[in-house]
Amino acid sequence: MTHTQHRPEHVVVVGAGLVGLSTAWFLREHGIDVTVLERGHVGAGASWGNAGWLSPAFAVPLPEPAALRAGLSGFMSPSAPLYVPAGPDTALARFLLSFARNSTQRRWRAAMAALVPLNLRALEAHDTLASAGGVVSRPMEPCLVAAHTEAQCRAVVTELEHVRAAGQPVEFDLLSGPRARELEPMLSGEVGCALRLHGQRYIDPGGYVEAVAAALRAKGGRIEEGVPVTGVREQAGGAEVRTGRGRTRADAVVLATGALLNRLARPFGVRRRVQAGRGYSFSVVPERMPAGPVYFPSRKVVCTPLGGRLRVAGMMEFRHADAPPDPRRIASVVAAARPFLRGVDWDSRTDEWVGARPVTSDGLPLVGPTLSPHVFVAGGHGMWGITHGPVTGSLLADTIATGAPQAELAALHPLR
Ligand SMILES: Cc1cc2nc3c(=O)[nH]c(=O)nc-3n(C[C@H](O)[C@H](O)[C@H](O)COP(=O)(O)OP(=O)(O)OC[C@H]3O[C@@H](n4cnc5c(N)ncnc54)[C@H](O)[C@@H]3O)c2cc1C
Repeated sequence: MTHTQHRPEHVVVVGAGLVGLSTAWFLREHGIDVTVLERGHVGAGASWGNAGWLSPAFAVPLPEPAALRAGLSGFMSPSAPLYVPAGPDTALARFLLSFARNSTQRRWRAAMAALVPLNLRALEAHDTLASAGGVVSRPMEPCLVAAHTEAQCRAVVTELEHVRAAGQPVEFDLLSGPRARELEPMLSGEVGCALRLHGQRYIDPGGYVEAVAAALRAKGGRIEEGVPVTGVREQAGGAEVRTGRGRTRADAVVLATGALLNRLARPFGVRRRVQAGRGYSFSVVPERMPAGPVYFPSRKVVCTPLGGRLRVAGMMEFRHADAPPDPRRIASVVAAARPFLRGVDWDSRTDEWVGARPVTSDGLPLVGPTLSPHVFVAGGHGMWGITHGPVTGSLLADTIATGAPQAELAALHPLR
């Protein structure tokens, strides 16, 4: 393949979530002409209502022995943090089987080795985006992980020690319940132990994704909203993109459609399923806002202060990305968070939201080339697409612009 084939002049990115927008932004950095096509609007998918943590310390592969145990112990209950609907769905059953097979220490360590290089560069990639102006992340000060018992805190310490053992520095202190309440008076007497993590950041996801879109437009990128892509076909020297309103030609296409990745990517050899792992969030206005984000690991609920409101997020529901929201999941997030926080009127919720994490069964994103030299994939970021979107976007843009495979993406190959 010649160098000019490697360096496309015009790239279409499908999907205006943080992953697609970041990839487009870094392609513009290489001087490549970019159009983003989005079926809804900027941030219509998971990139809007998530918890907004830029947290390399927690960005680890989802399949691991504890996740499997937690899943098996209560996954059919509508109020459990993980919900799998009963009923015949062979694709979902295959996904869960593969997830279970990957939930061993050995495979976790192998997947973690692939995430460490991304984690080490994740915040720097956000800083590069921020250099465009208007794109702002904040240090989490403090960043608290709070639990009922010391044993629950020790379980998190063990996880963080595994992250350290994988070669990623993580700094934290173990706190008593009273010390945690001194730092964060909103925590209730139920909190018996906490960890204070250092070096993490957070964002207001909706505002952030809009700011990245504005930065992309300011750099000369185009974003067309309300344009569903119905198919992509290889054409001599490029690809044809079929949309709800016609056909467009591009030298290369990046599929960044989040939890809906498979339909467009499968014709290009991408067999690994991206399963929608739906999460729910809402906002409340507490009597007193916490100074920083708080995570309750025993109930898998995260709270993030966003200006004058507190976003509460949680649940993992393995249902189709476009299925209607289930109000029982919101009730279950409320029930999980309520004991830990005081001064919250849980009935005055606003911004109730559901969004689909693009989850893979081996815990790694799918980022890189496909069977077609003109079609690339950027997806499958699971729990951590906000943290990893810019770094994987920058590496994929380098791959597309230079034609040189990037070592950090080797384990993320979409054809694995
Ligand atoms: C409750 C919850 C909390 C989370 N908290 C965090 C967190 O704290 N930190 C973190 O790092 N991550 C978090 N995540 C995960 C994160 O939100 C996702 O990994 C990330 O948003 C994925 O980004 P994406 O761009 O791949 O997908 P999306 O944001 O879903 O974007 C995909 C876009 O593609 C569009 N699209 C789909 N199909 C088509 C088509 N055919 N044509 C055109 N457009 C199409 C969709 O409309 C959508 O806008 C959380 C997720 C949830 C649900």
